[in-house]
Amino acid sequence: METIYFNVPPFTGNELKYVEEAINSHHICGDNQFCKKCSEWLEKDTGAARVLLTTSGSHALDMAAQLCELKPGDEVILPSYTFSSTANAFALVGATLVFVDILPDTMNIDPDAIERAITDKTKVICAVHYAGVGCDMERICKIAEEHNLILVEDAAHAVLADYNGKRLGTYGRFGCYSFHETKNYSMGEGGAILLNNPEDIEKAEILREKGTDRSRFLLGLVDKYTWRDKGSSYVPSDMNAAYLWAQLQMAHEINNDRLRSWARYYELLTPLKEKGYLELPYIPENSKHNAHMFYIKVDNIDVRTKLSSFLSDREVKTAFHYVPLHSAPAGLKYGRFDSEDKVTTKESERLLRLPMYYGLKDEDVIRVCDGIKAFFEGENK
Ligand SMILES: *Cc1c(COP(=O)(O)O)cnc(C)c1O
Repeated sequence: METIYFNVPPFTGNELKYVEEAINSHHICGDNQFCKKCSEWLEKDTGAARVLLTTSGSHALDMAAQLCELKPGDEVILPSYTFSSTANAFALVGATLVFVDILPDTMNIDPDAIERAITDKTKVICAVHYAGVGCDMERICKIAEEHNLILVEDAAHAVLADYNGKRLGTYGRFGCYSFHETKNYSMGEGGAILLNNPEDIEKAEILREKGTDRSRFLLGLVDKYTWRDKGSSYVPSDMNAAYLWAQLQMAHEINNDRLRSWARYYELLTPLKEKGYLELPYIPENSKHNAHMFYIKVDNIDVRTKLSSFLSDREVKTAFHYVPLHSAPAGLKYGRFDSEDKVTTKESERLLRLPMYYGLKDEDVIRVCDGIKAFFEGENK
């Protein structure tokens, strides 16, 4: 039986052609033709004041955290249910991490928990749009405004996803995308930072270009470039950007293909949901998601372990997701969980992600769902 993998990196067919073009142009460092094409495409798609490609989603978050200009002891509120990079970015600049609970229906940060966790040291809220489904941005933006806090969006999952008709990643001062091979659009390793406040552009460009004003030099705005401030190298190679360009050109096709698979899962698993075996994802009415993920939730961690190995025996590969950061060694060292962990641990242990990628075949979606059905209703149950 052929294996159905959990993830297959997106590939459209034009990648090699563009990578070859990048190589033949003899300009394979950053910010050449393909980097420019990608960032302009993303600026047009999102409406962000400026989009800068980065070497990873983690580096986009690192840039955002540095641009927040925090002092040691300043507090950042973030969900515990996220990838280590969300937390690392702020730990690296010496901030104290204040982890809060999520909502069980979307697995997104709970606005009430944010409000409870605010102290006079709080400087930043970092919202993570889990599975490309928007957090409650109406409330979160209001909280940030009322308390004068910087809002950062970890939109690593959320390229092309909307909340109230506006792209995720454009609500906060900074939005961070990932183009890792596990994400909807890929360049192997890569990402982008969305700058939604024009005042951050110059500083961000300097931070990204080894602390120099090379970006302004390339535009002819200064006649030589100099070391202006602290910085590093967050500029990806044009070869990687060439790979991404092939995917952005087909972005809507990729998105629609994923949404089709997502809708099929939802349809085929609804009878099992109605029998009470599992729960399906919830998409709030004001959210337009991007099918980054399809997950189900079962009763508890034992059922999940059994189901996952049952499916694996049928050559269907599934995956768990984040182990809550507040209980990890670094989480204990750099942060604290504010108030009670009512949802995070319990819900994270019930969640199982099903195969989802561009080009997933309908017959494979059917095979995955048949496997789940056999687990709950089959003879050797
Ligand atoms: C993938 C991911 C990142 C990091 O992106 P990389 O490109 O892998 O560095 C950050 N946050 C979340 C929520 C992610 O899923």
